This record gives sequence, C-alpha cells and structure tokens, in this order.
Amino acid sequence: MKIVLATSNRGKIREIQRFLKEFEIVPYSEYIPPFEIPENGKTFQENAIIKAKSVFEKLQQKGISEIVLADDSGISVEALGWKPNICSARYAGENASSEDNLEKMIQELKSLGATSSKAYYTASIAIVDKNSNIWTTHGWMYGKVIPEKRGNNGFGYDPIFIPDGENETLGVLPNDIKEKYSHRVKALKLAKIVLRNID
Ligand code: IMP
Repeated sequence: MKIVLATSNRGKIREIQRFLKEFEIVPYSEYIPPFEIPENGKTFQENAIIKAKSVFEKLQQKGISEIVLADDSGISVEALGWKPNICSARYAGENASSEDNLEKMIQELKSLGATSSKAYYTASIAIVDKNSNIWTTHGWMYGKVIPEKRGNNGFGYDPIFIPDGENETLGVLPNDIKEKYSHRVKALKLAKIVLRNID
C-alpha cells in the first residue's frame, strides 16, 4: 500500500520510512512541486491535519488519489516557558534553518544560566484516507536539553536533547536507541494500526 508523506523534512522522511517499512512511503514532492503548507493551527494536531489535507487536496486536483500522512512535531522546554512548542521550526524566525533554531536555543539556555532544563518532544500524525476520513495519533518523548551540542545523529534539536534513561544526547545515541523513546515512533506505532485497517 502506498502512502504519500506531506513533508519535505529529510529527517522525518528517513525516520518514517525506517519505521513504516511494510508500506511504500513516497514524499509528496515526487508527485507535485513542493509548496508552502500553511501552519496556522493552534495545536500539533490541528497543524498535522492542515498539512495532510492540503497535500491530499492538491493531489486530488491533479487526479491523484492516495492516502496522505503528515507529521507535526516540536520541542517544549521548561526553562523557556515550555516554548517553542508548535513554533519549533520557526524558533529563530520564519525562514530559520534547523541550525539557526538550535543555536538560538543554546544561546537562550546559556543566557538563563541553565545547565539543563526539562524538555519533551511531541509528534502528532494525521492521515487522510482515500475516502477523505481523517485519523490522528500522538506520541511524546521526555528528557532534558543542555546548552551544548553533542553529536550529529538525528536532526533538529537532537544534538542537545538527552532522553530520560540515557546519559547522552540523541546526536550521539544511535538511531535504534532514539526509536526506543521517540515521540514520532510512538505516534507511528498507532498510525500503523490505522493504516492496516483502511483501504
Ligand atoms: P514541523 O516540520 O513544522 O513539524 O517542525 C518540526 C520542528 O520540530 C523542527 O524544527 C524540528 O527540528 C523539530 N523536531 C521535531 N521532531 C524532532 C526530532 O525528532 N528531533 C529533533 N527535532 C525535531
């Protein structure tokens, strides 16, 4: 069964393909040119639905009827008033890169004098099936962030995030350890059940 991903984020595509091996996972950019997907929801769930529906509708306009899956995710940090939350991708500004966002967070933590701060990742997955039904699932990963980059594994804020139960960042820990705790994997485990039961 084919599933179209409503994302251009390579880190997410890699993790989703790794976990949903039994399906044929195709990024939407293989069908249509990438476009600016609005992210004006107030929650991860709302944004995941907006993304999945926008891609589903664009594909339908081209006569393509496929199941679409979107992930909206982000990190919430206690010392930052549990921000950036749904604004994680644009923490350092509208067109900020992952590196800009990471640097900004490190600087903010340093300026607060925090040597570490409790933090958690959230992932919301939205699926639009061929009958336009919408399904959502969610997952969380708890831990802390430190104001120092360690390692290059993962993506986004991973080089400063240490999951509860570990002593190293996700930048240092291998993929299979991240999968053990991952917010995205937890949401995808539930999404797998949805996907196995729709057509
Ligand atoms: P989105 O693409 O709008 O959902 O934005 C996701 C943001 O949260 C990006 O800035 C990512 O870097 C960050 N993020 C989400 N999940 C992860 C993760 O698993 N590791 C590191 N950063 C993540």
